[in-house]
Amino acid sequence: MITTADEDLLRRAIAIAAHAVTLGDAPYGSLLAGPDHTVLAEAHNTVRRDNDISAHPELKLARWAARELDPATAARTTLYTSCQPCGMCAGGIVRSGLGRVVYALSTEQLVELNPESGAWPTVPQEGPALFEEARAPHDAYRRE
Ligand SMILES: [Zn+2]
Repeated sequence: MITTADEDLLRRAIAIAAHAVTLGDAPYGSLLAGPDHTVLAEAHNTVRRDNDISAHPELKLARWAARELDPATAARTTLYTSCQPCGMCAGGIVRSGLGRVVYALSTEQLVELNPESGAWPTVPQEGPALFEEARAPHDAYRRE
């Protein structure tokens, strides 16, 4: 359930997205808040500026949390973000142990506003293969 306190922080994430546009960056903004709604960190999309496809704000904050917060603290945080996290960021959010995500625009709404944003090709994946060879480094790692 999204509370009025959540909406206040979500508005701040939207303001970060709006500010990003004024800097020449793409319109995506996020912040990470503690359980008392204190803002711990903020970020915006710098994919173009950094020439880095991973420079999404949600992933930046997930990486920050994994570096700077202990797992119990990370689990009590909420990530507020102007758009629903993409698959790359969703994976990083899970691995960083953040407790919750609150977003403004859904992916579906974003694609309606900007059809090119949803035009990602499907990359063929082939596997599994070479199980015995591929498991050897995993077995060695677990024995250490
Ligand atoms: Zn993303």
